[in-house]
Amino acid sequence: MKKRILTGDRPTSDSFHLGNYVGSLQNRVKLQDEYETFILIADLHALTTHFDRTDVLKENIKGLMLGYLSVGLDPDKVTFCLQSGLPETTEIAYYLSTLTPRAVIQRQPALKEKLDQGNQDTVGLYYYPVLMAADILTPRAHLVPVGKDQKAHVEFARDIAIKFNNLYGEVFPIPEPLIGEVPTLPGTDGAGKMGKSTGNAIYLTDSKEVVEKKVMGMYTDPNRTSPTVPGNVEGNPVFTYLDAFSDSSHQSQVTSYKERYKEGTVGDVEVKKFLVEVLNTFLEPIRERRKKYEEDPELVEKILKEGTQKARIEAKKTLTEVKKAMKLNYFD
Ligand code: ATP
Ligand code: MG
Repeated sequence: MKKRILTGDRPTSDSFHLGNYVGSLQNRVKLQDEYETFILIADLHALTTHFDRTDVLKENIKGLMLGYLSVGLDPDKVTFCLQSGLPETTEIAYYLSTLTPRAVIQRQPALKEKLDQGNQDTVGLYYYPVLMAADILTPRAHLVPVGKDQKAHVEFARDIAIKFNNLYGEVFPIPEPLIGEVPTLPGTDGAGKMGKSTGNAIYLTDSKEVVEKKVMGMYTDPNRTSPTVPGNVEGNPVFTYLDAFSDSSHQSQVTSYKERYKEGTVGDVEVKKFLVEVLNTFLEPIRERRKKYEEDPELVEKILKEGTQKARIEAKKTLTEVKKAMKLNYFD
């Protein structure tokens, strides 16, 4: 039997960005033949920071579905499912919460980050890692392709699976995180990570013109006041993006731009124009595929609906086993 992948995304926007791609989507596409893959649209997780913006959920869910299909995830191989359509997961999350020390949740780096961003200090926000552990453990996934920001959450899911198995008997495989080629893609502002909700993203749906505008306004080496000043390539998001998105036909140019940048013989504008070209080359086939699926919204809807039904069968099986192991099967 194939091993399983579970991973997912919050419908906090109607599109993915470049960070989502290199952090997680790329690995999902790569592994979809090798693993039985479940991809979860995490609308319940979106509530932790976006509980007052539920009117856009529907559009965002549709947008993310188009995003999956446009990057080359194959609906014949992948099960796409919606978190709010899998109530068994929230029940399993409750059981896991009873094994979760409060201090472990309080130490989660993502929690601190979300609070620092000004999100409300709700119980739901604290519960995030527990629900995410249930998302992973319910379909009994072995591998979780995520960006670095989610690594601690997958490790928490591991710990809780080990604890559960030790206490009640082997129910869950112990999941492993798989971090993307670029663990954390910086935002166009150079600050922190590119995020759907942080206004510093280049989206896979951005038009050529929008990509150009965002790239030309990108943060680079702040000490570089003219093209003749030697610049920093390390930690410069323009070069991080070039490394992440250039294909083999661009390689020699990337190397030469890096050298000239370090020597102070090329301007930021020229390098940025090259990045626009690189990004548009990468995005063009994604745009094309998206257009095709946009013409058939019923098909896209059906893929999510049937996927959720399929995932629910698995969720019910796991819930039954969990309750049996915990001796919560009094009426059986
Ligand atoms: P939000 O800002 O609303 O939390 P997000 O951009 O962080 O949105 P998520 O839906 O939370 O997106 O995460 C989806 C996946 O993309 C996760 O696996 C996450 O680790 C990964 N990811 C998100 N941003 C980045 C990034 N900048 N670099 C690498 N991976 C990322
Ligand atoms: Mg996030």
